[in-house]
Amino acid sequence: MAMPDGVKTSPDFPIPDTMKAWVLGDPGELTLKDKPVPAPKKAEVLVRIDAVAICGTDFEIINHGLPAIIQGGTPFNKDFTPGHEYMGTVVALGPGVDEYEIGQRVTVEIHAGCGQCKRCRQGMYTSCHNYGKNYGDVDKGHRANGFTTDGGFAEYAVNNINTLIPVADEMSDEEATLVVTAGTSMYGLTELGGLVAGESIVVSGPGPIGLLGAAVAKALGASPVILTGTRDNRLEIGRKLGADHVINVRKEDPVEAVRRLTGGKGVDYVLECSGAPNAVNEAAQMLNRGGKLCLAAFPSEPVPVDVAYLVRNNIYVYGIRGEGKSATHRAEAFMREKRFDATLIHTHTFQMEDLPEALRYARDRVEDAIKVVVRNAHRTASKAVAAE
Ligand SMILES: [Zn+2]
Ligand SMILES: [Zn+2]
Repeated sequence: MAMPDGVKTSPDFPIPDTMKAWVLGDPGELTLKDKPVPAPKKAEVLVRIDAVAICGTDFEIINHGLPAIIQGGTPFNKDFTPGHEYMGTVVALGPGVDEYEIGQRVTVEIHAGCGQCKRCRQGMYTSCHNYGKNYGDVDKGHRANGFTTDGGFAEYAVNNINTLIPVADEMSDEEATLVVTAGTSMYGLTELGGLVAGESIVVSGPGPIGLLGAAVAKALGASPVILTGTRDNRLEIGRKLGADHVINVRKEDPVEAVRRLTGGKGVDYVLECSGAPNAVNEAAQMLNRGGKLCLAAFPSEPVPVDVAYLVRNNIYVYGIRGEGKSATHRAEAFMREKRFDATLIHTHTFQMEDLPEALRYARDRVEDAIKVVVRNAHRTASKAVAAE
């Protein structure tokens, strides 16, 4: 197809005029539609999406809207395509882009901040003060694909070069979709201090971020790494990923168990990934004085917190948003060096046209689904051509 002047393409990767994309209508309603293939501008590339993982946040967006914001409001009936944990192949370069090559495999992080606000200038682009402002008179150029701009349940997407992470040849497409999840865990550990070698940590909640949180903490040298949760099968996966101890909170009191495992001292850090109503209070009780708590999940309702306990014990509390401070690059480096096997959390694969069924598997945890990945057929097609 004809891309605008200055955009580089290659005959090896012909780009059609239109693509198939899932579009959000009313809450809960997704339709597969034809959309124009977007063109990359300055500092952007066009990514042919090869695989995309489903995330819990996708359900929030599809059913309730937030945290997606399109043109200053809800994402419903605005021709918006959700999906944000995708990987693929660079197939067109915007004007002046020489940081990436056509044909290069990349995975993506979600947020490209505006680059001009106070937080972006500090490197905190996932906390951009111009979140969602990319339209009309308030166009600050902010992008969070699948949240404020079109995302990955489609065949192509435009990405800022700052959101791309090159993928090792040996890494499968499915594993590459998990880099942003591991990057979120890595960001949490970065905010807790980063240098956690030899220090003790509890990761609460064995969802994808918690499981990879245990893996990243172990790879960073934390010791011991203690994982808490309610389901034995998930805790067992956590053990394989690097947890030294696992605690089923339905079978024993997690605070007592953590105290016992640490000789009564409590841990230096808690990475809270469960969103359970009493999680903050329990985490505080697991910590030693001066310990640090990072919140990576949130309860759906406001909850009471024993603030006096936090103050008396000098406990630091952090909240993280997304995969900040380039943590995805550090996560990919660990995965590339096989410091942990992220594929243990990938359980199912579907084709893009079967997205509704894939979403059902992820939402209802059919067959113990953890991470469900959806693939585009063109990936298989181009492989077949190469084999001929
Ligand atoms: Zn996600
Ligand atoms: Zn910004």
